[in-house]
Amino acid sequence: MPSIKKHVEKSMQRTGKTYQEVHEWIDEPQHKNERHDITRVLEFSSMFKEKYGEQAAQEYVHHLADDLNGKFNHMMEDIQGLLDNTLTYFGAIKK
Ligand SMILES: [Zn+2]
Repeated sequence: MPSIKKHVEKSMQRTGKTYQEVHEWIDEPQHKNERHDITRVLEFSSMFKEKYGEQAAQEYVHHLADDLNGKFNHMMEDIQGLLDNTLTYFGAIKK
């Protein structure tokens, strides 16, 4: 998953603002899992909208999407590695 610094850079590119407080809140280590819970997206986006405005709520959603993409890409690399190892093991891939 992208670091807070990376999330801040992406927000800056998208909006011209860092939304550092949004990204720090989401990635706070003690609450990280509950704050990335997709089933609570309406609750948390409303909270950000009230506190910092519509664009902050949108940046919260972008944060989740960027994390999801990061996780998915990492998972695909792991799967490709397992696949390559298995094919090599059975001689299906020549070195
Ligand atoms: Zn995150």
